Amino acid sequence: MIYLTELHKQPFKDCTLILNVQSLDVFLFSNIMMSIIELDFPLKENDIINKLADKYSKEDLLNAIKELLESEILIKNKALHQHSSKTNKSDFLNKIDLYISSDCQLKCKYCFDRDSALKRQNMTLQTAKDSIDFLFKNSGESTNLHVCFFGGEPTIKHEIISQTIRYANQKALAGNKYIHYSITTNGLNLKDDVLDLIVSHKINTVISIDGDEITQMYNRPGKDNQNYYKELISNITNAQQKGVNISARATISKNSKNRVFENFIFLENLGFNEIHMEPAFGNTNGIFIDSIEDVESIKLELGKIEDYVKNKITSNENRSSFQLLTEPLSIILNKTKLTHSCHIAANYVAIDWDGSIYLCHRMISNDKYYLGKISSDFDFNKLHNYRQILNVNNRAKCSICWVRNICGGGCVAVCEEYNGNTDDHHPLDCLLHKHSISLALDIIANHMVNN
Ligand code: SF4
Ligand code: SF4
Repeated sequence: MIYLTELHKQPFKDCTLILNVQSLDVFLFSNIMMSIIELDFPLKENDIINKLADKYSKEDLLNAIKELLESEILIKNKALHQHSSKTNKSDFLNKIDLYISSDCQLKCKYCFDRDSALKRQNMTLQTAKDSIDFLFKNSGESTNLHVCFFGGEPTIKHEIISQTIRYANQKALAGNKYIHYSITTNGLNLKDDVLDLIVSHKINTVISIDGDEITQMYNRPGKDNQNYYKELISNITNAQQKGVNISARATISKNSKNRVFENFIFLENLGFNEIHMEPAFGNTNGIFIDSIEDVESIKLELGKIEDYVKNKITSNENRSSFQLLTEPLSIILNKTKLTHSCHIAANYVAIDWDGSIYLCHRMISNDKYYLGKISSDFDFNKLHNYRQILNVNNRAKCSICWVRNICGGGCVAVCEEYNGNTDDHHPLDCLLHKHSISLALDIIANHMVNN
């Protein structure tokens, strides 16, 4: 018997683009191939030939079947592409996020920490050091460790960061390990002292900037509505001149949904090589993406970015990495199937200001995702159970979705915020995932045709 593997089809020019959902191979199919895969499988080889005998010669059909079998679009063993829903048991940590400070100079309208920041405080140096001890104690054989500083605005407490790094580096030296650092910042404190810290410890720096002045000041106003924009741009320029490797993290709000392309170009012209843009989903308060119309607007904008990226590829020009397209592109081209969209529950935890451990930085203060304290009751089994539950193949809707191996199930913190659980997806988020992945496939097909 011959079976048809799971496929996604989308039109491309005058043919059809086919994605093998399991292997992530991409094909452009001619009429004869399409006629075959549109039959009802399973079938015997002779059945295929008989059903299409009035349209194609036997020889052409045999060649097409052979080709389809070689490319595993047709398979003889149904179990060939079944994949595991099991995940490796996680018994070490190699990455922690540290919630350094609840202070921030801004009042971003979509900030997930807006309310909780009122209750939270700054992390003390002792808790930061204890968190580093906790990481080392639980790092097992892992030699490459990652510490990310976040908040609020972590650079407000840059002295704590500096002393924590000094402490962590001493431990790393003694334990023959290496630590990578990263920070997510609003960019307003990137003055000489903070930049020196960043440069000397090669801290990977992500600046939250949504685009031009109008966008930024609407989405991310100062606490008292001050306009700090000139200062921010000057800090970014200064950081770039000092050789700091910075990337941009831009949030797309209801307000900026029609200016995604414009803002992407703006950020590229500012010198960012990596631009990460994500829609803000959340409970409606006028700023969040919350309707099909919003999603349609963003899709139009992504189409413009796709054209821009295609032209740059064709003319061999350098371009910034636009993660909404470049991430799926790289996953498909490298065939790195995802079981999760991020490192959640895999060797990673987020630590709140008081040493409480949570599943991820966006879930801190949510009791459902509390994993214990750095000083006492952390349990790897809890982490492993979450990794199992959050495996894309174990989640009802994801497990039958054609983009699952590329999307990995999306951000589960968004699911939690939207539904109060990690199972049901924000439907608008899914629409955008599928659309971005379709655009990435289109870019690949375009490249196949031109080469
Ligand atoms: S698009 Fe939605 S349903 Fe599909 S894999 Fe991603 S999160 Fe799951
Ligand atoms: S669940 Fe979402 S917010 Fe949390 S680490 Fe993953 S992508 Fe980031």
